[in-house]
Parts: sequence; C-alpha cells; structure tokens
Amino acid sequence: MTTQHTETFDYVVVGAGSSGATVATRLAERGAGKVMLLEAGAPCERDFWVQVPIGVAKLLLNGKYVWKFSTEPQSQLAGQTIYWPRGRMPGGSSSVNGMIYVRGEPAEFDHWAELGNQGWDYASLLPYFKRLESVAFGEEAYRGRSGADPGVLGGGGEPQSIERRLY
Ligand SMILES: Cc1cc2nc3c(=O)[nH]c(=O)nc-3n(C[C@H](O)[C@H](O)[C@H](O)COP(=O)(O)OP(=O)(O)OC[C@H]3O[C@@H](n4cnc5c(N)ncnc54)[C@H](O)[C@@H]3O)c2cc1C
Repeated sequence: MTTQHTETFDYVVVGAGSSGATVATRLAERGAGKVMLLEAGAPCERDFWVQVPIGVAKLLLNGKYVWKFSTEPQSQLAGQTIYWPRGRMPGGSSSVNGMIYVRGEPAEFDHWAELGNQGWDYASLLPYFKRLESVAFGEEAYRGRSGADPGVLGGGGEPQSIERRLY
C-alpha cells in the first residue's frame, strides 16, 4: 500500500548519513524552515553490532546494514572489482565505520587552498574541527571543549580505548 503525504517542507535532505544528518540538524537549529530528512535504510543503528566499535566486521557483508556496492573493474588491479560497502541506516556509513577519529594534516588542507579552493586551508577549517570535539586534553587553541557530539573522542573528554568503549 502506498502512503501519500501532503505536508510541505522548505528543505528536503536526502540521506541521513554523516553529512545529511549534519546538514538537516544545522538547518533545524537555525530555524531555517521546515526540514525533512529522508533515509532509505531501515532504523537499525541501535543494533548491538552497530554499537560495538569492532562490530563493523559483523556488518559489512549484511545487506540489512550496508549497500553492497562494488567498484567498476580496476585496470590497475588486473581488472578486479573491489567490494565497497556503504552504510544503509540513520547514521549512514558512520554507523558501520571503524569509529576512528583522525584530524588531517594541516599541510594537506593548506595544499587544497593553494590549488584554488578558497576557505579549505587549515586555519579556516579549524573552528569546524573544534566544533566537533568535546575533549579535556590538548591546547585550547586547537581542541574543542564543548562540541555538539560528546561521543567524538569519548564522552569523558579523553580519548577512549576500544576496551572502554566495549565495557
Ligand atoms: C567500512 C567503513 C569504515 C570506515 N571507517 C571510518 C573511520 O574509522 N573513521 C572515519 O572518519 N571514517 C570512516 N569511514 C568513512 C566515513 O564513514 C564516511 O566517509 C562518511 O560516513 C560518509 O558520509 P556521507 O554523508 O557522505 O555518506 P553516508 O554516511 O554513507 O550517508 C549516505 C546515506 O544516504 C542514504 N541513502 C542513499 N541513497 C538514498 C536515497 N536514494 N534516498 C534516501 N537515502 C539514501 C544511505 O542509506 C546512507 O544512510 C568508513 C567508511 C566505511 C564504509
């Protein structure tokens, strides 16, 4: 049976993965209008193996959790294709990823800017990195203290080992 919705929205964000969820949240926070966030996958982000950091190994071959994509044949790999799974639930690929948080090298971002990408240098991006973080360590100038997601780098403000995430 097809359900018809007649509600109208100012913004429709397609895909509730890392970027879509963030865009929808920011729009809603700004009071920019009525926002709809559409996700094609089923809501299984609370499943046990999704919550466990190394549980990703249990998810990547399961079509309930991932889109089971493959690359085109790669000429540099003797024509082989590579399995290329992507998350299929609220949270998208961040729900099936390794939960490893690494900030890129400043020089890499500065190189992007040198290539003509205005605003992508490290100094311009730093406020956004800080906005993600909620940590007690590191210098104030480089680390965020009250980011939106206390899960980034651990809710207690310290990096969490895999053991601490598990128990
Ligand atoms: C196995 C794996 C391990 C990773 N490990 C790490 C890691 O440890 N650290 C790290 O920083 N990054 C990691 N990444 C990368 C990171 O998870 C991704 O770069 C990031 O999540 C991509 O965000 P995105 O918003 O572009 O896409 P996604 O998060 O993939 O979101 C796309 C969303 O759109 C939905 N969608 C697709 N088509 C439609 C449609 N037609 N209608 C509605 N919804 C749709 C999908 O179901 C999905 O939920 C990993 C990725 C994978 C796959």
